[in-house]
Amino acid sequence: MDQQVKEYQSTHSQKLMQEEKLRELLVYLNTYSPFYKKLFKEHGIDISKIKTIEDLISLPTTSKEDIQQHNLDFLCVPKSKIVEYASTSGTLGSPVTIALTKNDLDRLACNEYGSFVCADGTPGDIYQLMLTLDRQFMAGIAYYSGLTKLGAGIIRLGPGVPSLQWETIQRLRPTAIVAVPSFIIKLIQFARENGIDVNATSVKKAICIGENIRNTDLSLNILGRKILDSWNIQLYSTYASTEMQTAFTECGQGCGGHLQPELLVAEILDENNQAVGPGIPGEVVITTLGIEGMPLLRYKTGDVCMYMNEPCDCGRTSLRLSPVIGRKKQMIKFKGTTLYPPALFDMLNEMDEIIDFAVEVYSNEIGLDEVLLHLVPADDTDACDHRIRANLQARLRVSPAIRYIDTPSLQKIHFKETDRKITRFIDRRK
Ligand SMILES: [Zn+2]
Repeated sequence: MDQQVKEYQSTHSQKLMQEEKLRELLVYLNTYSPFYKKLFKEHGIDISKIKTIEDLISLPTTSKEDIQQHNLDFLCVPKSKIVEYASTSGTLGSPVTIALTKNDLDRLACNEYGSFVCADGTPGDIYQLMLTLDRQFMAGIAYYSGLTKLGAGIIRLGPGVPSLQWETIQRLRPTAIVAVPSFIIKLIQFARENGIDVNATSVKKAICIGENIRNTDLSLNILGRKILDSWNIQLYSTYASTEMQTAFTECGQGCGGHLQPELLVAEILDENNQAVGPGIPGEVVITTLGIEGMPLLRYKTGDVCMYMNEPCDCGRTSLRLSPVIGRKKQMIKFKGTTLYPPALFDMLNEMDEIIDFAVEVYSNEIGLDEVLLHLVPADDTDACDHRIRANLQARLRVSPAIRYIDTPSLQKIHFKETDRKITRFIDRRK
């Protein structure tokens, strides 16, 4: 299929193809998008001057707040052409709507088809989808339509309920699962408690969604290791968001999510909106290609990643993204180092001396970030305290403040918010 060939072509021909699509996009936005028409006018932008990927830098970026405040101004088609209303949580309270036309749904299917092919999917595979397909969740229909296009078998089981997942695995013998990695841990636990030998089942691979299975250096993180310690399957990580309607998925080499160049232009930018080089963390900024309903130009995802641009051992030459290092808004600048909650969580999770934790960040009197760790220690001894402090100093090269508490007090922190989800990161910065 044409789509997959592009990922193997020279980066130069990929760039030329993207630039042609970019020029088409700019004309389209300037004709049909109320938001971008106004933006171009306000900034005095002559779109005919934007011809290359390098020229993108002269265009303003778009934020999530822009979409939230002017949601329907992003729509480029009459409402009669919309067939799917997807949504994503907004930062200002109300959810953001992303509307798709029939063509956008086809593009979404092509995108996810490409993802599954990249993750060694074949028509002979049967995938058990352990995720929701309703509640306006775009990824659910993306997986479903992508697998349909691939010609693979699909079992729509939904999230949760390990007993039902295993009963179905044993009955229908899927070869692959699509699931959140922490749920795969639950599946393994259930199997262990119920005498199911995971390695004797039909499942040989897992597409891991929503959470990282690797550290920034691409080695497996504690979640990835925990899964592979018990279950001899191939793991593939995938990263996507509703706004970009496109996924970055790992191939069997497991060295970053591959860009599908005909669907998206990806920029990685520093705090001054300048492009960073490979291997340097920056915010993922995307421009969608081939979208009809709500295309986005230089949209700032808020996710911090690094990119790799050397060819992959799988033969694909397209850019790859590292696991998400963190959310840009959650970046902590602490005593000269830059920290992100996910890396801190991984580190705390790995220490045997710590049973459970929460991380609090606040501004000190001169406006700098301070970190306070709320820890439930394995025991109350000085030796335990010493090991924790020494370990943190060695790994972080700085020493955050520590407050030892018991499990009930920690649970009050975890569930303080009205959220049903556990709160492990408390941001009190001004
Ligand atoms: Zn590859």
